[in-house]
Amino acid sequence: MTINQSGWRPSAPEQGNATAPTFTGNKALMLEEPLIFEIGSTDTTGVDFAEGDVAGSRLGNLSRTAPIGLPGLAEPEAVRHYTRLSRQNYAIDLGLFPLGSCTMKHNPRLNEKVARMPGFADVHPLQPVDTVQGALGVINELAVWLIKLTGMHGVAMSPKAGAHGELCGMLCIKAALEARGEGHRKIVLVPESAHGTNPATAAFAGFQVEDIPATPEGRVDLDAMKTRLGPDVAGVMITNPNTCGLFERDMKAISDAVHDAGGYVYCDGANFNAIVGRVRPGDLGVDAMHINLHKTFSTPHGGGGPGSGPVVLSEALSPFGPLPFTERHADGHITLVEEETVGDRHPHSFGRMTAFHGQMGMFTRALTYILSHGADGLRQVAEDAVLNANYVLRSLDDTLDAPFGDSGPCMHEALFSDNGLADGFSTIDVAKGLIDEGFHPMTMYFPLVVHGAMLIEPTETESKAALDQFIGALRSVAERAKAGDTALKTAPHFAPRSRLDETQAARKPVLVWKDPDMAMAAE
Ligand SMILES: *Cc1c(COP(=O)(O)O)cnc(C)c1O
Repeated sequence: MTINQSGWRPSAPEQGNATAPTFTGNKALMLEEPLIFEIGSTDTTGVDFAEGDVAGSRLGNLSRTAPIGLPGLAEPEAVRHYTRLSRQNYAIDLGLFPLGSCTMKHNPRLNEKVARMPGFADVHPLQPVDTVQGALGVINELAVWLIKLTGMHGVAMSPKAGAHGELCGMLCIKAALEARGEGHRKIVLVPESAHGTNPATAAFAGFQVEDIPATPEGRVDLDAMKTRLGPDVAGVMITNPNTCGLFERDMKAISDAVHDAGGYVYCDGANFNAIVGRVRPGDLGVDAMHINLHKTFSTPHGGGGPGSGPVVLSEALSPFGPLPFTERHADGHITLVEEETVGDRHPHSFGRMTAFHGQMGMFTRALTYILSHGADGLRQVAEDAVLNANYVLRSLDDTLDAPFGDSGPCMHEALFSDNGLADGFSTIDVAKGLIDEGFHPMTMYFPLVVHGAMLIEPTETESKAALDQFIGALRSVAERAKAGDTALKTAPHFAPRSRLDETQAARKPVLVWKDPDMAMAAE
């Protein structure tokens, strides 16, 4: 097909054939959209500049001789281009988004309203603190809530995502070990059931990662871990609830053993939404834990907005936490502690994670969420998230294999495997079938401890009706995969693009558009 000047790929609809392609390639509300380079013309601009009165260029022989090749569109064309593309995407505001471990739940509009209040949205990080007492008050109050909810001693608010929080926590551990003269402790133990960011973080922070195996019921093998502890071990990183969707019941025993061996306990608390209001990690002996505000406390994420990963710290690690942090004085005035040397009170800080104090917009949203739920409401968040996940698990374990279905109730996510699908069918075929059913697929092939994993996190914000529709869709697709329905091998059939060669797309992505005219001119 050729592309004409306006970017359309005209084709001839066959008369009398109701399903033949349309002239435009559009299918009613499903609109085809070429690349911006294919519709834009470099001569077009949405801006009308006055003729300049400065004669000549001051760039000398550095001025550009060939066109820059940027696409040019008038404003309405640019708006339409991106709006059309956005309609080819799935979003949490369109339907259930069962991506396990990612906690794609409804973002209350109240959060958005508060985050847009000019006193929060329009402040500048370099404003004098006297002029931003309200914004600092939000950071401070959120910090107090996070410390209370986790039973910890301190919190570093500045990390900007979960993995960034992990790095912050591991740098605290590193600084604490060095302060003790034990910088030689280089080994960090990470169980198989940990989130993939954990070993990556430990390695990035300069530690050596060693695996600890999982038990057949999907939890950390406590005995194997105890055997490995010793004077070279800096600590452990445990995801709890883990990525099999299970609570690590031995957490206290793990912490005690690690502390006895002189190490620290990092807990990946990204999935705090499953236990908030029910368990305080501080009571379990945790030394550092990040909380993904964008998961537990509902701020938009995953292409929809930035994350935020504050790290709560034990008394042992708090002195090493990063700057800056807020401090509320007896008269209510809040200051930012910016320097290691202030009053000699924070001389051990390992430094900074970010230039300023972190993601202000996420703090405002998270605190709004916390205050609008209240302590009892937050507890119900965890209870309903767990209830919904167990409803999915028990509704489908007669159709799909649930490898840890006998390990007791799951937490916030339900885990299935591809065991029992027809020969040649795998998790990917089920996922692509779900796209045709109008759902974003679940997390696939993760965690690695399960063959062909399908990890489903429904979250607490889905109604029973929505869950029933999703369960019905997944059951139908799973039954087709078990029966060997070959149409599933080429799904999705109704999406704007059909099945891609994913290996090629990952290994040899075509990231640069080449102007066919220029290519022709070069020949
Ligand atoms: C989401 C998640 C992370 C990473 O968080 P980011 O904000 O994406 O960096 C780490 N661990 C677990 C268990 C998670 O679910």
